[in-house]
Amino acid sequence: MKSINPALNMLISEYPEHSAEEAAGIVEKTWQAGLSFKETGFAYRRELFRSLALLLRSDKNRLARLMTGEMGKIIRESEAEIEKCALCCEYYAEHAESMLCDEIVATDARRSLVVFQPLGVILAVMPWNFPFWQVFRFAAPSLMAGNVAVMKHASNVPGCALAIEDLFLKAGFPNDVFRTLMIPSPMVEAIVVNPRVAAVTLTGSGPAGSSVASAAAKQIKKAVLELGGSDAFIVLEDADLDRAVKVAVTARLLNQGQSCIAAKRFIVHEAVVEEFTAGLLRAVSELQVGDPIEPATQVGPLARADLVDDMHRQVQTSVEAGATLVCGGRRPDRTGFYYLPTILGDVKKGMPAYHEETFGPLFSIIPVKSEADAIAVANDSEFGLGGSVWTRDIVRGEKVARKLETGAVFVNGLMKSDPRLPFGGIKKSGYGRELASYGIKEFVNIKTIWIG
Ligand code: NAP
Repeated sequence: MKSINPALNMLISEYPEHSAEEAAGIVEKTWQAGLSFKETGFAYRRELFRSLALLLRSDKNRLARLMTGEMGKIIRESEAEIEKCALCCEYYAEHAESMLCDEIVATDARRSLVVFQPLGVILAVMPWNFPFWQVFRFAAPSLMAGNVAVMKHASNVPGCALAIEDLFLKAGFPNDVFRTLMIPSPMVEAIVVNPRVAAVTLTGSGPAGSSVASAAAKQIKKAVLELGGSDAFIVLEDADLDRAVKVAVTARLLNQGQSCIAAKRFIVHEAVVEEFTAGLLRAVSELQVGDPIEPATQVGPLARADLVDDMHRQVQTSVEAGATLVCGGRRPDRTGFYYLPTILGDVKKGMPAYHEETFGPLFSIIPVKSEADAIAVANDSEFGLGGSVWTRDIVRGEKVARKLETGAVFVNGLMKSDPRLPFGGIKKSGYGRELASYGIKEFVNIKTIWIG
């Protein structure tokens, strides 16, 4: 497996892959480790996750540089990602026990209760866009619940994959409780069907989710899928436009636009579309594109060369179909996998910028005539992950939020994940939830005990 620095288009390191036998051996050892790990108490696991949080913080600079080097995230965002992982460890260290405490239920029994018990080995198939956060938001609740894990990370972040495994060991977790499998995606199915694996979680694209969930379904195994999104950013005519423009830039360009919950379709009331677009153009023109390791850089490269090609195809095809190119629309003249922040106006049904998930620095502006139109366009998507609504009337904002077919809506705020709130999608954005108490209950046996 290769780490390629996307800012320089340069090979950083190569790592050997595990063979099928080695991977099966790791699963077996993890299963063995799980037999004693599930018997440990919350207090023991709490201390492990507190140590892990400390370790993440003390090693933040090195880990952030590793992430930026492998997938091109700007360094400030990499540092923030490590900090968020530490917070997630602390959150579940503190709350897992109360989330999973026995529930006594009054029935006709002498005593009846619901208990929450770990399932065993959880397989996690993870994406490269948040190489640490995606892993920790699955691992902290799963392991606090008493499960153990094997992780197959995306092939372009092998350094991060190994660093995460190492962090668990250094924090004092018993051997084999968290292991990284260095395998390519065609080898994933064999791990899913391995009888030692109890359940699977995948964060990634629709095709990967469909393939892994099908394999899991054939074995009657639980799966959680966190897939793509095409979040609407609805700007109503009474929105605070200055604030909406400012947040729109972050909402789209965080991680160079490579986020499942990035704002992708800017659905703007026709009364304010000109002003909004002009504001966006001003803000985007001031951004500094450059090497993500430099602290002053605001927009770095995409993670892989093929992602730049995809982005360019989506932009070109949309322009050929009638969208207006407001700015960008090309690669800058520099080495690396860069694409200039791009604004497309007059985006309409039938264009890739309207229907497809756009995974890069592209603002697709879709003008609408009314609130009802905005809701209809927002819901005219195969995805249903997140979204936001901008209006000065918060009662109206909540009313619109309730009508959107997504797993989350933020009114006058940046759509983001937060350990305290459930995260996940509907439609082609997947099923199941991560984070909060909902996430920790995905990988436990919710068991009824009835005593007569
Ligand atoms: P991807 O190509 O689906 O890869 C995700 C993971 O799945 C990688 O580990 C990949 O391994 C593996 N994989 C790919 N095809 C597979 C298959 N047929 N069978 C088994 N495993 C397979 O997605 P990506 O390009 O890394 O990530 C971008 C996508 O993830 C976007 O659609 C984004 O919206 C979504 N995403 C969703 C969330 C969420 O929470 N909903 C969060 C982040 C990202 P290889 O790298 O070895 O191919």
